[in-house]
Amino acid sequence: MGEITCPVPLGNGRRILLAHGGGGRLTRDLVENVFVPAFRNDALAVLHDSAVLERPSGALAFTTDSFVVHPLFFPGGDVGRLAVNGTVNDLAMSGARPLYLSLGFILEEGLAVDDLTRVVTSIQEAAREASVAVVAGDTKVVERGKGDGLFITSSGVGVVVAKRPVTPSEVRPGDAVLVSGTVGQHGVAVMAVRDGLAFAAPILSDCASVADAALALLASGLDVHCMRDPTRGGVATVLNEIASQARCEIAVHESAIPVSEDVAGACEVLGLDPLYVACEGRFLAFVAAADADRALEVLRARPETAQACRIGTVRQGGTPGLVVLRTKGGGDRVLDLLSGEQLPRIC
Ligand code: MG
Repeated sequence: MGEITCPVPLGNGRRILLAHGGGGRLTRDLVENVFVPAFRNDALAVLHDSAVLERPSGALAFTTDSFVVHPLFFPGGDVGRLAVNGTVNDLAMSGARPLYLSLGFILEEGLAVDDLTRVVTSIQEAAREASVAVVAGDTKVVERGKGDGLFITSSGVGVVVAKRPVTPSEVRPGDAVLVSGTVGQHGVAVMAVRDGLAFAAPILSDCASVADAALALLASGLDVHCMRDPTRGGVATVLNEIASQARCEIAVHESAIPVSEDVAGACEVLGLDPLYVACEGRFLAFVAAADADRALEVLRARPETAQACRIGTVRQGGTPGLVVLRTKGGGDRVLDLLSGEQLPRIC
């Protein structure tokens, strides 16, 4: 990436007009004054119909996701930071080093230009932290009432650095299940703002890149079979997805799953189960049992994954697709997929 400068503040109370998406002078103003200065890099600077990129040596990982979080700004992040980290994390979960992002912005007529600039600045910061370049983008404007401020679709490309596949099909009976930190913070942070709940100290979203930690784990040479970030649907949903895809039974211990006191308290007030609440800066890793302790050492040596712990095991000869929770009370219960949407527009 070339030199980075801040977007020129062209807000001053200005709002997005339909003409900002019309392809004319206002579109050019927006591109030249807001987007290009923030994301400055050689590929983007060409301002042509597509970015032309050097081909990395290795297989490519390619992912896409849309971000419709409401509200756009929440404690610990915003829709822009979420778009970058969500995409970067999905690439890393496939064992890839994130390289490039393409961002599509759907703006609603009337959005404050200052809010757009704030989101763009936050994308710039998150992209720099995650060492990815925003090399392509698009902006469209929809009429007032036809959007909700700002939606972002983000696609990312990375180069696979994992020496072996890191996928659910690699999960084996006996594998240890690790989580990289406390769960449920992102969902609770967003829901608390949305519901107007005030806590003594606001609960911050965990929104962050986990790419460096995930890649450090792979680089350690330990036997890592699968990784996945527990976003929408939280840890319980991801465990169900993997148990089903790997055709195995997974057992987890409720007392081993780290939930901060704040999040546990807020979940009680909001009527949520933290195991189903989205994280945006955490990941689960399935690691050969013999390597579990060393994997935890690798993770705990890093500040962002210092609270990593082992939460469960892939059972020998269990029921394929089943996830069992050993509760704090000592009983077993099935941790099922939820029917219906627990937390709409959380990411
Ligand atoms: Mg994911």
